[in-house]
Amino acid sequence: MNTEERLRNFKEICRKVGLKITHQRLEIFKELLNSHDHPTVEKLYHRLQPKLPTISIDTVYRTLTTLEKHDLIVRVETEESQARFEGRMEEHHHAICKKCGGITDFYWEFPDEASLPAEILNWGQLVKKSLTLHGICEQCIQEE
Ligand SMILES: [Zn+2]
Ligand SMILES: [Zn+2]
Repeated sequence: MNTEERLRNFKEICRKVGLKITHQRLEIFKELLNSHDHPTVEKLYHRLQPKLPTISIDTVYRTLTTLEKHDLIVRVETEESQARFEGRMEEHHHAICKKCGGITDFYWEFPDEASLPAEILNWGQLVKKSLTLHGICEQCIQEE
């Protein structure tokens, strides 16, 4: 989906679940769509300030949580205490640098297509498979 389709989809889902499409919500969603670094709430808040000078960090956080609940955005699981968010919805995996906190997206057909091991086969209903690589990125290695 391109940005325009995502926005249309966003408005459609908001209408369906009875979520008001406020200027704030739309701007927060758009900013996240344009962010490719899986920002924290704080980072996103700073980026939004020129457009929404009166918004509070708490509102940004609450909005993201609401959007996440309706599967409009994704909260990325990391080992950090601060939550990271992204607007990209195609299934993909992450490589996380534990030094700089950088998150790199990647695609890998193998885990996507592989069937589950027998021991977990009857665990329940699967929603998504995501793989996270933890380590130190090349740039941080070079800087050491
Ligand atoms: Zn790094
Ligand atoms: Zn990602």
